[in-house]
Amino acid sequence: MPEKNQVTELARLLASSRILLSSDISPELIGEADLGLIAAKLIETHMGQELAVVQTEELKLIVEATKLTKAPLPIEVGRHSDFRPVAAEVDSKYSISNTQIDRAEGSTTDFVNYFKDRLHRMRSFLESHRNNGVGFLQNIESIKSLSGGREVCIIGLVSSASTTQKGNILVRLEDETGEANVMFMNGTSSQAKVLFEAARGIINDEVLAIKGKIATGAPFVYASEIIWPDIPIRVKKETEDDVAIAFMSDIHVGSKRFMEKNFMRMLEWLNGNVDTKYKELAGKIKYIVMAGDVADGIGVYPGQDRDLAILDIYAQYSKLFNFIDAIPDYIEVFVMPGNHDAVQRAEPQQPLGGALIKEYSKSNVHLLSNPAYANLHGFETLAYHGTSLDSIIAAVPGTSYAQPEKAMVEVLRRRHLSPIYGGNVIVPTKEDHLVIDRVPDIMHMGHIHKNGIANYHGVEIVNSGTWQARTDFQMKQGHVPSPCMLPVYELKSHKFTTVDFNTE
Ligand code: FE
Ligand code: ZN
Repeated sequence: MPEKNQVTELARLLASSRILLSSDISPELIGEADLGLIAAKLIETHMGQELAVVQTEELKLIVEATKLTKAPLPIEVGRHSDFRPVAAEVDSKYSISNTQIDRAEGSTTDFVNYFKDRLHRMRSFLESHRNNGVGFLQNIESIKSLSGGREVCIIGLVSSASTTQKGNILVRLEDETGEANVMFMNGTSSQAKVLFEAARGIINDEVLAIKGKIATGAPFVYASEIIWPDIPIRVKKETEDDVAIAFMSDIHVGSKRFMEKNFMRMLEWLNGNVDTKYKELAGKIKYIVMAGDVADGIGVYPGQDRDLAILDIYAQYSKLFNFIDAIPDYIEVFVMPGNHDAVQRAEPQQPLGGALIKEYSKSNVHLLSNPAYANLHGFETLAYHGTSLDSIIAAVPGTSYAQPEKAMVEVLRRRHLSPIYGGNVIVPTKEDHLVIDRVPDIMHMGHIHKNGIANYHGVEIVNSGTWQARTDFQMKQGHVPSPCMLPVYELKSHKFTTVDFNTE
């Protein structure tokens, strides 16, 4: 194509975004650079502006940056000739349910509708509990007409939970009709102590049921029991195929601390090129789920530039997808964004897309929203980056950064991926898409950079750690990550093995 047309062509790509090119821009400036990428970057830069005119200086910088984008070289990993992976002989069986991404303005009505929907859906989980003969009150307002001493069971959204001057816990529950104050006494009997401890775990914005007695002559209910929505016991799925799922997250490609050598070693292992006792296990891997923070991103926190090895967002993703290309084709790879990735921060997050993964299409690579369900060989897998775990760990006693699986159990008990509103950014849509409607067989998260495995009510819980070395931030916070530990779950034997790529 003659160069003169490059300027015209770029102008055409930009026209609908109301971006104009200054008339003195020379065709030599663009040369053979990628017009689609240049356009994507300009549109991103000038988003929200009425009209923009791009000058030579700005275009020059962007053209330079797109050249960098092309820099990462394909990664050469060949499959070992003796490697006979079982998984290559088994047909993949999977389906994806990505979360619907609605728009919301963040108006008061949006918030009201959002919480109404949460309350409504949680109520149906709560009402499925057997409840020792005390029926659930249909609305909180009706408490007013009941006399003191009467036993009740109320369902509501926690609008606050605080410790009173006398050391009791006061919880305010509300529903569409009104609100109720519930008191947990700091008593001395062992029963009171157990209840009080449980009440310390009540968090803002969660929906639960509390059983208790209406106080005589005081505007509150004395609590005697807390009922969380919780999940029923899950029966383990069976399969005859000896295949496995590997879990990864927080790869942080682009960060100076990304542990590339270890990651490459893992890729070599997947291709049968590493002789370890886990070689056979490598051949069983049929699915890989990446639960977010796949790239380090740009501008995620102030001063991030200092921590980046790759300063160009497009180059970070092209490098990531080069790595993914080195994964054997018979493995289905599912890629989800996290809070570091280059999609809107508010959850639910849409799958990676657009100019970031331009022209990337491989039939074994699937893009997930955050959160998403993926049914893998009959195993319902709920994947979520886990951004909300920070607020859970801050609020619920007994949870910590050292044991992310405990915080993940708390999420399941509350049937909500991000119960504390405002702990992380959520889009207040008409429907609360972070409610855990479908009980999964496997729940996978990352974000904490610490591996953790647990089983709760039959649900396999896995936090897949990270591929990034300890950061200064984690040092300051006292967090100790567990990088390069790959959890693998064998579907036939229901067994987890964590392969340590610090040593293997
Ligand atoms: Fe991360
Ligand atoms: Zn994260």
